Amino acid sequence: MAYLTLRGINKIYPNGFHAVHDFNLQIEKGEFIVFVGSSGCGKSTTLRMIAGLENISKGDFYIDGERANEKGPRERGVAMVFQSYALYPHMTVYDNLAFGLTLQGVDDDVIDERVNSVAKILGLSDYLERLPRELSGGQRQRVAVGRAIIRKVDIFLMDEPLSNLDAKQRVTMRSEITQIHRQTGATTIYVTHDQTEAMTMADRIVVMKAGYVQQVGTPYDLYFNPVNMFVAGFIGEPPMNFVTSRVENGRLDIAGVPIDLSLLADSEVIGQYEGKEVVFGFRPEAVKVMEEDDAVPEDSFAMHGAAELVELLGDNTNVYVDMSGANVILKVDPHVSPEIGTEFDFYIPCKSVYLFDKETEKRIKLRGKQGEKE
Ligand code: ADP
Repeated sequence: MAYLTLRGINKIYPNGFHAVHDFNLQIEKGEFIVFVGSSGCGKSTTLRMIAGLENISKGDFYIDGERANEKGPRERGVAMVFQSYALYPHMTVYDNLAFGLTLQGVDDDVIDERVNSVAKILGLSDYLERLPRELSGGQRQRVAVGRAIIRKVDIFLMDEPLSNLDAKQRVTMRSEITQIHRQTGATTIYVTHDQTEAMTMADRIVVMKAGYVQQVGTPYDLYFNPVNMFVAGFIGEPPMNFVTSRVENGRLDIAGVPIDLSLLADSEVIGQYEGKEVVFGFRPEAVKVMEEDDAVPEDSFAMHGAAELVELLGDNTNVYVDMSGANVILKVDPHVSPEIGTEFDFYIPCKSVYLFDKETEKRIKLRGKQGEKE
């Protein structure tokens, strides 16, 4: 059995709201798991059930092979870091860090050693005598993380710990938390609505929507092999482009370009969709803008569009494109970016194309190296 097992977990709040449906997950010791999804999808509820702060309405939760549904938060050996740092405002950083250990009756000299060691890891050694209000947001967040790691527990639970920080601090803290995870080796479950945090920090990501798990996988899996349109649109920035079209005689019409589906999938698969609408998907970064002498490579679809808006971001440029009424975003090399108001050609390699069933929103299995590492 895995270190943590969630089997058929459900949460129905006392008001009857069913917030989490049949959540299944096995977590190995030391893994960094991220729950990601839009606000209200049930991430915090699931985390709080793991912490023992909410009861589990139905299903079984095991820690290291032992059923833990009825265990209180303290018995579970977890430490939680919240979005609102929850520091004691009248206590110094030192006392905030030491508080949990003092309550446990740990000897003063042991406490002193642990506080100093945690402060060193988190770059707080010079701030131990300050009060929380005398710290920056990032430093306060570090104290909150420090209070969790000082307890030397096996399981860390973090609920949107970076959402009160500015963009720059978030990037710094992201890598600090990843490093702390490496140092402590504690199994970590981290909740965020931010797909970049999920992609950069996680060993495995759990994507949730409206109380249901959509997909569990490594960042690589989710990016290249999304199971449905929700995951495909949630992971990646800017999101995957989607253009709807009806299959007629084994072809799609994408902004006036005929797409021969036999290049993408076997005839049995295409046959099932004849006369039905499917969604043609491609990532903004999967395209190549064509320069004058470029020829369209084999196994690619040539496209045409008008650049309506161009955002130079430095390392790349986002171009908002009108393709005969279909609006898409392309992420291109700034040196070959089209200018606003101009028409231009680009191409999409066949292996970068995704198709989805319009009705179920599930991904249609395509042939070849689609979404696989070369
Ligand atoms: P997330 O963390 O993904 O933003 P939550 O787990 O906090 O989402 O909430 C999931 C859903 O459950 C939301 O629709 C929320 O309004 C609802 N919810 C949260 N707490 C309660 C509660 N105590 N009673 C009833 N509904 C709740």
